[in-house]
Amino acid sequence: MVDSERRLACIHVRRDECKGCRFCVDICPKQVYGMTDRYNVRGYRVPEVYDEAACVACRRCETICPELAIYIEPV
Ligand code: SF4
Ligand code: SF4
Repeated sequence: MVDSERRLACIHVRRDECKGCRFCVDICPKQVYGMTDRYNVRGYRVPEVYDEAACVACRRCETICPELAIYIEPV
């Protein structure tokens, strides 16, 4: 595996803590997230990680999430 293919992070989203604000979707420079049509137990639409391999581990999503629902685990 060459370096450009190496995954930089494992993304953890606690969806039941999410309030569907989309901040993570909008701030990610790599379009890793997208909103789904699914709702969590609190009745909010939740995002999905669509392209984890594109993540550059900048942690902007983790920092901006007001619910502390995202954890970026460097790998
Ligand atoms: S750490 Fe950065 S690149 Fe990775 S999902 Fe979050 S905002 Fe996107
Ligand atoms: S920033 Fe946090 S609360 Fe907002 S949509 Fe993303 S995971 Fe949910």
